[in-house]
Amino acid sequence: MRDVLKPFLLSSLMMLTAVVAHAQLDGLFAPFDCREHAEFFYNEPVVEPVEQPAAEVTVAAEEPTITMDTVSGWKQWSMVENFAFGKDRGTMSMITDLEALHPYFRDRIKTLIVNCRAKGIELAVVESYRTHAKQNEYKVMGSKYTSSGAGRSKHQYGLAVDLVPIVDSVAVWDNKALWLKIGVEGEKLGLRWGGRWRKPYDPGHFEWTGGLTSVHLSHGELPPIPKCDELYPCIHEDIKLLRKYWRAVEDAQGAMTRK
Ligand SMILES: [Zn+2]
Repeated sequence: MRDVLKPFLLSSLMMLTAVVAHAQLDGLFAPFDCREHAEFFYNEPVVEPVEQPAAEVTVAAEEPTITMDTVSGWKQWSMVENFAFGKDRGTMSMITDLEALHPYFRDRIKTLIVNCRAKGIELAVVESYRTHAKQNEYKVMGSKYTSSGAGRSKHQYGLAVDLVPIVDSVAVWDNKALWLKIGVEGEKLGLRWGGRWRKPYDPGHFEWTGGLTSVHLSHGELPPIPKCDELYPCIHEDIKLLRKYWRAVEDAQGAMTRK
């Protein structure tokens, strides 16, 4: 019996050895070499999540900081009502926000305020941008308010501002020595000071036009800005937006006049 089975068992053993040898070549029972798969398992998933989501996060984080209301942003401008600084300035509100000014002129005024503060003089903004409607109101109120009709004042181009010194929380309009100190500071910054005028003497008024006249300005010309490309690279966009706001506030105050 054993002799009969011997050749059969022998051939079966040989077959099994051949299968195992083939399987080893196949890789089925081959020892697992992690090095050749490391790239697939580690490199691929690591590279992907690092690069893409990182870029998305940056964009999402920056977006809210550049979001601005380009339609009704002017409604955020600070305004005051008549007698806010102890003087009759008519029934229409006055815009006191420096953001309503031409960017270059705005920076000059901010510097003037800082420089005066360093000398112990506190300044308040009485009026910055002024609508044609408001200008007409002053014109009707008489020559001590203005000699310019609508479109003639630099306030209507965001290139003039009215300031007043505040002493012990009170606006001081009649201290000529104090006005002179403020005026000189403004002139140091290249601003034109209304304290040099006689009709009307207007010491709270500062303006800058870069040499342009009201006629140039009314034709839409923009004053040349020193080092403009370097310091004000977005000036055209800024002015475009400002003009949009100026039109909107003009419409609002113009509607009040017609009531
Ligand atoms: Zn003025």
